[in-house]
Amino acid sequence: MVATSLLAILVCPACRHTLSEVAQFPNELVCASCALGFPVVEGIPVLLLDQAQARS
Ligand SMILES: [Zn+2]
Repeated sequence: MVATSLLAILVCPACRHTLSEVAQFPNELVCASCALGFPVVEGIPVLLLDQAQARS
């Protein structure tokens, strides 16, 4: 889980859409707009495009 206060200020580095936690991909934050999943490593979101996975 990522702290709600942190999640509220995080945006997708590709499109600036907000990120969401989804049950289908635990340990990731997913952008609903461009369908990229960003890994969360030890509670820290890694918002780097070269670490992102396509999550359509
Ligand atoms: Zn995006």
